Order: sequence, then structure tokens, then C-alpha cells
Amino acid sequence: MSSVKVRIAPSPTGYLHVGTARAALFNYLFARHNGGKFVVRIEDTDTRRSKPELIEPILDALRWLKLDWDEEIVYQSRRSELYGRYVDEFVKTGRAYYCFCTPEELVAEREQARAEKRNPAYSRKCLSLSEDEVQARLKAGEKAAIRVRIPEGETSYDDIVSGHLTKQNTELEDFIVARSDGSATYNFAVVVDDHEMGISHVLRGNDHITNTFKQVHIYNAFGWTPPVFGHVPLILRPDKRKVSKRLGDKDVGEYRNEGILPGAMVNYLSLLGWSPKSDREIYTLEELVGLFDETHINASNAIFDEEKLLAFNKTHIQMMTDHDLAVLAAPLLVEAGLTTKYWLETRWEYLRAVVSLFKDRLTRVSEIVERSGYFFAFDYTYDEKAETKSFPPEAADLLTDLAGRFAALTSFTVESAEQALTALAEEREIKKAKLIHPARLAVSGMPVGPGLYEMLVTLSQPVVVERMKKAAAYIRNKQ
Ligand code: GLU
Repeated sequence: MSSVKVRIAPSPTGYLHVGTARAALFNYLFARHNGGKFVVRIEDTDTRRSKPELIEPILDALRWLKLDWDEEIVYQSRRSELYGRYVDEFVKTGRAYYCFCTPEELVAEREQARAEKRNPAYSRKCLSLSEDEVQARLKAGEKAAIRVRIPEGETSYDDIVSGHLTKQNTELEDFIVARSDGSATYNFAVVVDDHEMGISHVLRGNDHITNTFKQVHIYNAFGWTPPVFGHVPLILRPDKRKVSKRLGDKDVGEYRNEGILPGAMVNYLSLLGWSPKSDREIYTLEELVGLFDETHINASNAIFDEEKLLAFNKTHIQMMTDHDLAVLAAPLLVEAGLTTKYWLETRWEYLRAVVSLFKDRLTRVSEIVERSGYFFAFDYTYDEKAETKSFPPEAADLLTDLAGRFAALTSFTVESAEQALTALAEEREIKKAKLIHPARLAVSGMPVGPGLYEMLVTLSQPVVVERMKKAAAYIRNKQ
């Protein structure tokens, strides 16, 4: 049994953004590659910023990416008793102390330090309080936070991505581990959880490195072995700023709604900050599991390029089976009012044939709606610009003739339809284009689309014949 156990620990303060999704993916790949476990922990201790209603959408986005997790989800908000026990132990053993300073006092202290160009770290005023005084003030009901006592010296750890890192303890200051209401702060709760849950490795964004030093200190103070840390590079926007909701960057759910495939998203995210050390770029999730090697995480920041994501999406759409693509297209077509669920259920083969015609042309699955409407609805209109070019008066006769030839075919196939059209063009001594363009416009209302003969065969012989006759009558009526 592998000893690898990793987690993704989203805070429900927003929807699942691409940075957390990428951290989830790397942890997932690392766990699955090593036969270990991947678990989810919801970091919802910050009651002012956490929104419980965001938890389900975050989990939903992880499910959609197919990053399935092991074990029960851990909710930090349900573990305050556990944190409280450890905080007490921390205080009793002298590794932490009560701090009675009010927020106003702390702000004033910091401002004064800044004005005097001194380190604005906490002054340790409360560290010098005598035990008697502390007890008396607590008894009197005075509120106190709990601060960790950071010793002199430095704190170090080995990062999978950035190597051996060291920070002077003077930079860590005596940070708060429990607020005056008794609730544990983020850095303390994370250490308790990672320790209690047996987390072996922590892969997360490098914006957490400062936290890691604080956390390593808590591990050391408890005498616990810290997990192995790896800090992955940040995901930046093309303008090199950090990806952010405020700047209009989309969350995973929004990409999903826009027709990005989970496989494409996962593939694209996997290459932001990691490399399989090969020129190949397109991989399935299963292939990534097989290839993932944490030593190939690179240290430099990655740029999220939506154009590139769309290119990946196009390729992943082409990799789908017609059936799977039909499954995705069906609700979109129904939602657009082009057909009904019932109609599609009884004509699944037809839907499969339709999506197969468009498979190589779609950047997003949703584009199928605007491109394929005429396969489902008969009330389309003719594209106006194309009409002036492709429906000249003589096209009425040509379409009538072509409809007759198609109707006479005993077997309506790509080859027989093409032969019939070619034969008619030769007899009439006209270019094939004089038939092809009116035929396409007649059966679809559009000047462009899939290959003409494949489209005709999919629509079926009677439909094609009827539509061509209808178009011929339409042209005649105009005159
Ligand atoms: N809740 C933290 C976040 O969303 C997770 C940090 C961690 O992985 O330890 O950034």
C-alpha cells in the first residue's frame, strides 16, 4: 500500500478557479500515479468570507473534471473542538501565549513601527506578562488571542519544486494561532488537519510559501514530521497579472458552460507548470496519470492562454466518439428549441450522423447549435447574401432537375449523389459549382457547412428532394 496521501483544500470564498483546479489536478495525478489517496478538505473556518452555498458548485466542478476523490470530505468548520485541544496543548507547553492586545492597539503599534521605519512585526508585549496577570485577566473575562512563540533562528524545508528554502524567524513574527473567540486560524488548522489526516505531500500554489514556513514551525513545535511540500508556479494572465475573478477571468464552471470539455481543461491545465518532457501536448487524464512525475514541475510561472485552451478543446472534440459527442449535443439542441428529447431518443443514429459531420469543425460543442439547426428544423430561411449569388432565376430549373435525378436513385449514397450531380452538370455543360451552391443553400439555408454529399445523405433522399423542390418554387415566386 502506497503511503502517498494528498489533498485539495478549497476555501469556499469563490467558485473553483483555474489555480485551485490545477492544484487539484496535480495532487490527483500524483496520488493516482503512486497508487495513493487523493482527498478533499473544505477550508471553511473563515466564517466572514466562506459561503456554504459555494461548496456544492466547487465539488461539482471537481467531479466534472473527473478528479474523483477518496474518503469522506473533511470540513474544517466541524473540527473546532479538535483544533481547540491542540491550541490548549500549545499554550500549556509554553509554545504559545495569550495576547490581550486589541485590534486597535495592534494597528497603532504597526503604524508607529512603520513611521519609525522599524519592522512592523508584533512587539511581543504580551509575552512578558506574568502567569498571574494572565490568569487574572482571563478570569476577569478579558478577550485574548493566542500567539505562537517563534524562537530565534531560522526555519528551513526542502521544496520539491524550489529546493532547500530558508527564512529568518524574525520574518515570521509571533503569528496568531487562535482568535479571541477561540477559533483556530488557517495556518494552525491546516497543520493539525494535515497531520491528523496523514497527508504525506502538499502540492499547492507558490503564493503559500510564506504560510509554509509558519506551518513548518508549528510541525516542529509539536515534534511532528511535516509533509513533503511542493509549491507550483502561479497561473498568470497574458498581461502577466495573477488570474483573478476581479479582472474578469473565468472559473471552471464558466468554461464548462461555454462548451469546454473536461478532458481539454485537464489536459491544458496539466501543462501549466508541468511538462511531460516530450513534444507531444495532447493527453487524456489516464495518460497523464501514467506520466505524472512531480520532479517535472517547473518553477517559473505559467500563462493561461484562452486561445490555446480552445485549440486543445477542438482536438479533444475530435477525439470523442460520435456517441459521446451526441450525448453532449442533445441537451443543447433541445434547450435551443430545435428538437425535443423524445424526438432525439428515437433517432439516435441520425443525431450521431449529424454530430459526426461537424466533429472536425467545432471549437466548442455548443457551436453545433447554430451550425446544425437545419438538420432538425424545416423552417430555416435562406442566407440573404448567399441567395443573391446562389439563387439566380436559372437555379429554379436546375434544382428541379437535380431533385428529379436524386429522386430517381435507387440507392442514395455519397457516391451516387455525386455521380448524379456530375452527370447533370456535364449534360447541361455547366460548371458543377452552378449546382453545388444552389443545392447547399436549398437544403440548409447556409452557404457553408459540412461536405455537400455527406450532408445530403444524412438529411436523407426524401428530405433533400422536398427541400430542393421547395427552393425551386421559392426562386420562381420571387420573379
Ligand atoms: N484553502 C487554501 C486555498 O484555497 C488551501 C491551501 C493549502 O492547500 O494548504 O488556497
